Amino acid sequence: MKEYMTIAQARAGLKKKEFSSFELTKYYLNKIEELADLNAFITVDQERALTCAKQADSKIASGEDGILLGIPIAVKDLFCTRGVRTTAGSKILSEFVPEYESTVTQNMLNDGAVFIGKTNMDEFAMGSANITSFFGPCFLRYRRKTDPSIRLVPGGSSGGSATAVASDLCIAAVGSDTGGSVRQPAAFSGLVGIKPTYGVCSRWGMIAFASSLDQAGPLTKTVEDAAIMLQSIAGYDEKDSTSANIKIPNYSKSVGESVRGMKIGLVKEYADGLSQETIDLLGRARQWLVEAGCETVELSLKTTPYTLPAYYIIAPAEASSNLARYDGVRYTRRSEQYTDLDSLYIETRTEGFGEEVKRRILTGTYVLSAGYYDAYYRRALKIQKMIKDDFKNNAFSKVDLLLVPTTPGTSFGIEESSKMTPVEMYLNDVFTVTANIAGLPGISVPAGLSQDGLPMGVQLIGPKFREAKIFRVASVIEQSAGFEKLREGIIIA
Ligand code: GLN
Repeated sequence: MKEYMTIAQARAGLKKKEFSSFELTKYYLNKIEELADLNAFITVDQERALTCAKQADSKIASGEDGILLGIPIAVKDLFCTRGVRTTAGSKILSEFVPEYESTVTQNMLNDGAVFIGKTNMDEFAMGSANITSFFGPCFLRYRRKTDPSIRLVPGGSSGGSATAVASDLCIAAVGSDTGGSVRQPAAFSGLVGIKPTYGVCSRWGMIAFASSLDQAGPLTKTVEDAAIMLQSIAGYDEKDSTSANIKIPNYSKSVGESVRGMKIGLVKEYADGLSQETIDLLGRARQWLVEAGCETVELSLKTTPYTLPAYYIIAPAEASSNLARYDGVRYTRRSEQYTDLDSLYIETRTEGFGEEVKRRILTGTYVLSAGYYDAYYRRALKIQKMIKDDFKNNAFSKVDLLLVPTTPGTSFGIEESSKMTPVEMYLNDVFTVTANIAGLPGISVPAGLSQDGLPMGVQLIGPKFREAKIFRVASVIEQSAGFEKLREGIIIA
């Protein structure tokens, strides 16, 4: 089997009968076992995956087609999958087997996808390093050139999905992004990760963290694959009241289309305090776009510094309310140490939630409580409105897309991360939360390697529903960066 195969290549191979979906699935299942120490998966149901692959093979044999037909895909353990345990990386849901399928995963099944397993993640998608999972940390397979002995984080919260794709344990994966959880791990792992416009993918059956910000998004090896995956998972769904009733364009068609004449904005506030290598990376990306016929424009978004604080009020506020349902009475694990109803709630939640989740629930409850609501929550919502207006009036009235960093730095060590304060960890999200707070689409594209030999990504943010335009420009960056070649130079220990 060819290494690091894309969806497009695997589809061609299946069509030409170079291999069957069964063989392809078996190949990845073996690799998952071989590289089990990466801890990329929480649940792998081999039999189920192989049965599904066989069904795909008979469909292929009978001439059926589907954009993901027979393709092994990994699914973040945040999407409810009928009959397959769905934990959200939490002890409290460690025995939860949903009776329904999320719309996003159902859409992929309708297109013929073979689910290879449920991937590791930060508990309830809260984190930037995949270290808060009840099932243990997930690791980046790549190592620093300067010290290959250090184990690095894949980013989070979709760290398992990123490692599964980057370590070639599947062809592509789906994650979720509330404040950067698709784009940040994509950047750390040398992958493409897109968070679509809020409302493009249905949230039905996706375990809620912060409902007004949550969006599903693909993690893939190429921009073309991201377009294929998004095509599959996007679409209106009446079961999600915030689902956007729009016509989904043909995303794949836009990959490779000319970008001549496009205006790309560079935002002053995103350059504050950047490392020299990130400045250089952005400079190169800018140059590639100019060579492809784009014009770059410098602009200022003054609300930028307020975005992270607003996010860390709004997201915990919604989380505190969403997580109230895990009470030990319904679908959760129940503590055995209780004497009455109150202690059943208290003991179940004390045992079932990890430290970071408790921190968010406490923060969220505090900012929503009488007396603090106006000072924190209402204020954060006002800031959110200002941020949205800022993008609209001062960015997208002048330019087509923005070119900004995805992350302040590259992947860091697991040890280092355990010494970070919560606020230091939250600072990882400074460039990604803006797209969530404003409901805009954002993509991270691998653009180069750091001096340490680790992947680095750049981010493109666009106006609402302009994913097709994002794919066009992302594809230029991908081609110019030649990351495929660079990837071969990254150290794997
Ligand atoms: N790292 C951010 C947080 O911890 C974003 C998480 C996410 O996008 N799910 O909240």
